[in-house]
Amino acid sequence: MEGWTLPPAADDRRETVLDERDVERVLVVTAHPDDVDFGAAGTVATWTDAGVEVVYCICTDGQAGGSDRTVSRTEMAAIRREEQTAAAAAVGVTDVRFLGHMDGELFPTHELRRDISRVIRQVRPQRVLTQSPERWWDRLGASHPDHRAAGDATVDAVYPDARNPFAHTSLLDDEGLEPWVVDEIWLMASPRAEHVVDVTDQFDRKIAALHSHASQVSGHDDLAGFVRGWLVATAAQAGLPEGRLAERFQVVSVG
Ligand SMILES: [Zn+2]
Repeated sequence: MEGWTLPPAADDRRETVLDERDVERVLVVTAHPDDVDFGAAGTVATWTDAGVEVVYCICTDGQAGGSDRTVSRTEMAAIRREEQTAAAAAVGVTDVRFLGHMDGELFPTHELRRDISRVIRQVRPQRVLTQSPERWWDRLGASHPDHRAAGDATVDAVYPDARNPFAHTSLLDDEGLEPWVVDEIWLMASPRAEHVVDVTDQFDRKIAALHSHASQVSGHDDLAGFVRGWLVATAAQAGLPEGRLAERFQVVSVG
């Protein structure tokens, strides 16, 4: 996998990206089925191609998705779990966990932080990829309230909850889950995304993953063309050679 970092901003803020050789496991936490596939499936495929174990944790079942009112919301939850599981398989991910929170009603509560901390302690990832907790005024659709809630709770679960033996004490006392220190957070759909990953070779699998979400994307005439346009623009902004495709992230070193 190759990655490029854009030149430092005027304030000289720099990001540090872990040496890929030090990354054995990555945990991805999102609000809804399909979020990871729009934002990061190409990058996930670069990791699984490199032998990294990637686990998905989806906070809701996406019950509020789709537009067919004849499908019950319980049915929709089952459909979307299946779709996300198939999409994960398209990019080499076989471990998908659902927290079962309600779509449209996600908040960064103590309970959600505990649920995510549990998965962090079970998976023991060096890197966690999630959604930006910031509202992005230029792309409001990307900063859906559930996305911000998932990102906010995940960042809090990474620091300080998962590493603190005295946070969510039942995790250690009743479940035997030892504290775990995550080294790095990657944020999707962030207005501060400066780290760019070339996903040209993974593009077809990203599109296959997106097509797995039939209940959400079947109305799109040219999904591949639409997504390619985004990735071309991201690559061009980062100065990658013409014809390359890229996804971008804000990388936060937790330390
Ligand atoms: Zn979403």
